Amino acid sequence: KVTASGPVSVSGFFDEGELVGVLTAQPLDRVLDYRAPEGGCFVGAFVEVPLGPRKVIGVVWGAGKGDYHKGRIRSVIRALDAVPMREELQVFLQRAADYTLTPLSSMLRLATRAPGLSNPPSMQKIYRLGSGRPSRETEARKCVLDVLEEYGGLSFTLGELAKQAGVSSSVIKGLVAQSCVLEEDTPRDLPFARLDSTRVGKTLSDDQAAAAELLREGVKGGDYGTTLLRGVTGSGKTEVYLEAVAEAVKHGRQALVLLPEIALTAEFLKRFEARFGARAGEWHSGVTMTERRRLWKMVGQGGCQVVVGARSALFLPYQNLGLIVVDEEHDTSYKQEDGVLYNARDMAVLRASICGAQVVLASATPSLETWANAEAGKYKKIELTSRFGPSVMPDFRAIDMRLEKLPSNRWISQSLEKAVSNRISKGEQALLFINRRGYAPVTICRACGHQIGCKDCDATLVEHRFQKRLICHQCGESEAIPEVCPSCGAEDRLAAVGPGVERLSEEAVSLFPQARVATLSSDLYASARALKQQIEDIAAGGADIIIGTQLVAKGHNFPRLTLVGVIDSDLGLQGSDMRAAERTFQLMRQVAGRAGRAETPGTALLQTYQPEHPVIRAILAGDEEGFWQTEASERRQVGVPPFGRMAGIILSSPDLQEVFELGAELARRDGPIRQIGAQVFGPAPAPIARIRGRHRVRLLVKAPKGAALQPAIKAWISQVKQSNQFRLSVDIDPQSF
Ligand code: ADP
Ligand code: ZN
Repeated sequence: KVTASGPVSVSGFFDEGELVGVLTAQPLDRVLDYRAPEGGCFVGAFVEVPLGPRKVIGVVWGAGKGDYHKGRIRSVIRALDAVPMREELQVFLQRAADYTLTPLSSMLRLATRAPGLSNPPSMQKIYRLGSGRPSRETEARKCVLDVLEEYGGLSFTLGELAKQAGVSSSVIKGLVAQSCVLEEDTPRDLPFARLDSTRVGKTLSDDQAAAAELLREGVKGGDYGTTLLRGVTGSGKTEVYLEAVAEAVKHGRQALVLLPEIALTAEFLKRFEARFGARAGEWHSGVTMTERRRLWKMVGQGGCQVVVGARSALFLPYQNLGLIVVDEEHDTSYKQEDGVLYNARDMAVLRASICGAQVVLASATPSLETWANAEAGKYKKIELTSRFGPSVMPDFRAIDMRLEKLPSNRWISQSLEKAVSNRISKGEQALLFINRRGYAPVTICRACGHQIGCKDCDATLVEHRFQKRLICHQCGESEAIPEVCPSCGAEDRLAAVGPGVERLSEEAVSLFPQARVATLSSDLYASARALKQQIEDIAAGGADIIIGTQLVAKGHNFPRLTLVGVIDSDLGLQGSDMRAAERTFQLMRQVAGRAGRAETPGTALLQTYQPEHPVIRAILAGDEEGFWQTEASERRQVGVPPFGRMAGIILSSPDLQEVFELGAELARRDGPIRQIGAQVFGPAPAPIARIRGRHRVRLLVKAPKGAALQPAIKAWISQVKQSNQFRLSVDIDPQSF
């Protein structure tokens, strides 16, 4: 539930010299007073203001208050040439700040990530693919042409193209001279090609057509509403929500499609272009600066109708947003875990409720939160119960590892081995899934028992044999694989313990010497492009056995894949996290869903040491409704989300004793928390107990559903002062509890 904080601005115009309140993205949590510049300015205007000795960019948030002045009030330097921020976005940022208990200035930073906002020259030189062929195909030239081909119609500035291709600008100039690359003067920030919403999509099945009609009605109504679109992988959810996108476009409203993984955008954009005859705008960290700048401007002016992107696309300045699709809504990557802690799915619902848009939450395995909201009637629910066409969900079976008697350092059981041989001998593909990057999770000294850990984090270093390094998955620090034990100095006694995706690959190669084995893990590829190439290659039949991390669980289409083997089904069930069952269930269903998408039915084999575990049994039985019901009743009993509310308070400092003492002190002074009928648990070591040399402890707050959680937490934490070394951050709706 979001607490409204009332209107944040007066509408209107400020004459030169009038007091205005300007919000900047600087870490000061207040709106500062300035005088309106020559020519005046509107509320929402992007302006440049002096701040100490610097000039910074800000937004005119409303009238100045005139209540806080150390000296004379300075003037706004100038209003920038950008569409003023709409009131709807201002309200959204304010409420998102209130909800997540983050400073408004940090929220503003998310909304002003457009490069070059301040100073737009009107023309620029851009580069795109020409028709000529180079006289000599050098490696560098080929890189440039590859990049341009890869990005289709996109154009680049010289600097961007050189960087993307990894060549010097003279290589590009050389290609221009031969008309292989075209150099053009263009006005900056051209609108995107218009979409053709009258084009018809695929002919829908009856189920799909009914679902599409319901979504269209919502969009047509023009008000806020959220719908859960649930359907097994391959049931055509994408086809269905594309109809809702078409409807929004038809009514002159913009649509946003959020995807959980950048690697999925390329495939989606292709489908989108086929459907609408033009490209959607693309927004994520892999997009060129020129493109991002253009998109940011065009979204604000209505020159971009549909955006496909990562969670940060929620903060773009839409002119008239009518639809937000959150695909794979259960995906944990929608939760931002760094900086501003927010869940993009929940923020999508918040923004839509402010601007009167529809939200579609699509998933084969919805989060328990969404499931409960649909059950309670807060969200509409649409179900697609069967896969499109002849394909059916795979058959699930357990392999009881207690009976397999595997030798040490082997992870593929004989039963799984047989099943794989059987499939690949028929020209089908098999996927072996393990949710662990690298070669081995632990390196241990067999002489002294020492485990090599990160010196700054509470984590063991993971061997990445491909990169020949030990890497900390927490902070990213790495070191060369040592030859002697760093603790006792013994030679040749270091041993890799446990499997990662690289090691599994090695085992598969030795078990199936004839087969082509492809390993898919995000860190094995130099670029998103190389990874995409590999995925396309696999889809085209270029591999017999695919070894993958959870990267493969998400949305790729491998038509020949008929067998999925899960190496360690028990992995996610360890530990005390209340969400572990839900996550494991979702992940297993998702991975298994990769199998048997075309005519041949698929099989999913789960290697497990505890086949009678209730979660494993629910997965095997395919009894989703039963699983959700059981899970829901357990959580209802203890009053945790979605039947109660939680917040995590993370305290961190280089000094372990200090954080624990402060945590304990905060736990004692829990008056404001008890006042709303909530409880404090902890302090306990945070899920990641040490990162980058900082010790972290966590307090968990559990509150009844209707409690006013945020104001209570605000009052509570204001009792401790942050210092240079000591920091506190609030995580509303934490991922693990
Ligand atoms: P989901 O998003 O539920 O996984 P998709 O929309 O990706 O499902 O559909 C799975 C596959 O089936 C895609 O290749 C899609 O093009 C195809 N498909 C789905 N519905 C239809 C349809 N009505 N006509 C033709 N192909 C369809
Ligand atoms: Zn580390």
